[in-house]
Amino acid sequence: MIDLPAQLSSLLPAGAVLTGNDMSAYLQDWWGRQIGTALCAVLPNTTEEVAAIVRACANAKHGVVPQGGRTGLTGAGVPDVSNKPPVILSLSRLCKIRKLDAMNGSIEVDAGCVLSNVQSAAIAADRLFPVSLGAEGSCQIGGIISTNAGGTNVLRYGTTRENVLGLEVVLPDGTIWNGMKSLRKDNAGYALRHMFIGAEGTLGIVTGAVLKLHPLPKAHATAWIGVADPDLALRLLNRIQTDCGERLTAFELMNEEQLASVIAHHPVAASPTEAPWHLLIELADMHGPETLHETLLSSLDAAMNAGEILDAVVAQNGAQRESFWALRHGTAEANRNTGHLLSADISVPVSSVPQFLIVASTAVRARFPEAQLVIVSHFGDGNVHFGVRFSSGDWGSYCDPTVMALSVRTIVNDCADALGGSFSAEHGVGRKLVDELRRRTDQAGYQSMQRLKEAFDPYGIMNPGCVLGGQDRVR
Ligand SMILES: Cc1cc2nc3c(=O)[nH]c(=O)nc-3n(C[C@H](O)[C@H](O)[C@H](O)COP(=O)(O)OP(=O)(O)OC[C@H]3O[C@@H](n4cnc5c(N)ncnc54)[C@H](O)[C@@H]3O)c2cc1C
Repeated sequence: MIDLPAQLSSLLPAGAVLTGNDMSAYLQDWWGRQIGTALCAVLPNTTEEVAAIVRACANAKHGVVPQGGRTGLTGAGVPDVSNKPPVILSLSRLCKIRKLDAMNGSIEVDAGCVLSNVQSAAIAADRLFPVSLGAEGSCQIGGIISTNAGGTNVLRYGTTRENVLGLEVVLPDGTIWNGMKSLRKDNAGYALRHMFIGAEGTLGIVTGAVLKLHPLPKAHATAWIGVADPDLALRLLNRIQTDCGERLTAFELMNEEQLASVIAHHPVAASPTEAPWHLLIELADMHGPETLHETLLSSLDAAMNAGEILDAVVAQNGAQRESFWALRHGTAEANRNTGHLLSADISVPVSSVPQFLIVASTAVRARFPEAQLVIVSHFGDGNVHFGVRFSSGDWGSYCDPTVMALSVRTIVNDCADALGGSFSAEHGVGRKLVDELRRRTDQAGYQSMQRLKEAFDPYGIMNPGCVLGGQDRVR
């Protein structure tokens, strides 16, 4: 019997292997919901150390869970209580910015860099790394790559996948694949990097990345808008896209229940508009703010005259813009701290979002009439976070939280399916949605995923139990 923690300690500098209470922080995710067990947590400093750890685990056929900032929302970066506690491999000490090439529009970074640090490095070079989300102060580059994170700028710049040029990955046998190319065009064989983007650590460990940078917009025009219903929001989206083209970077929707709970958690905040539905929209461009404001105001004027909007407040300065964004970015925290929230992360074609919201709301209300619907949506991407909140009293009257979660998930995901949608828009599959992936993916697609996993990771040591499931015990 190999003493794996002792072996790993012999491969790494002092203090890099944690056990017992010392590793407790690594056993819990941002929600505080996922609390698992592990053999130890290891904190390597270099790609070579990551490779040595993975080789040792491969030899012992022992599971490894790669871990970033633990902000993932599907229980993927934290092990569950499995029969064979895995090794947690935290990337947090691999946090160097390796190189920035402004003329090429690229930045090379370690996988453990926190997203906001990469954004700041880009801004210092007059460039933009556009992936932006509420957890950007904690989540890591390896985490956003492995979940193919979306966020609030997808409308203009795409998901993380569209912003990754190259990768460095430690494969499940411990070899290092160097794919750190910074090319816009490269058709030399299979585009391997795409296998690891969105793989949730089940095919290898990302240790470095080359990311795409964009020109840094110099002007923003931001508005908070009240609308009567999502159908009118869709009409407004089309109007602004026609008027403003790709200058539209964000088009976010929330219902008044969602906004009220954010405000309840940030007492200084207030609702900029009174309406059943609220939109936060933003234009960005290289030219002066006056032109951009004029464009936005003229579009909103036309929308008001056409009866598409109830009210609109255009941010007059940076502080007001930030206060609008604070309301949007405050949703996850408010939802974590209010009542018992079960939520789904679905996508449908953008034109079907209003219909989805009608059918899903009707179906959930029919089953749980006492529940409150809490909705926040990256509307411009067709992505809806559909939350169903129960008061403590109502929650207590139900017998089994797992059955409840399954029931809500099934109702909401069925509605998305019926409109050609996905049960996982941007948060991934993790451990939470393994059964949904199996149930809702066509057979040929699912079997191809299984074969891919088998080819990369024949012993099933990489993030066991995640995405495809059924591998709680490493083969
Ligand atoms: C307040 C808040 C707001 C959020 N908003 C959004 C949003 O708008 N859009 C969105 O898409 N998500 C959002 N999320 C979810 C989350 O932030 C993202 O999924 C993020 O990408 C996870 O990064 P992480 O570093 O925390 O990864 P972790 O949670 O640590 O891990 C996530 C997955 O990636 C794997 N992983 C981590 N690092 C590596 C690596 N180096 N190599 C291989 N695998 C690795 C893990 O094994 C796990 O499977 C939000 C979360 C919070 C808490």
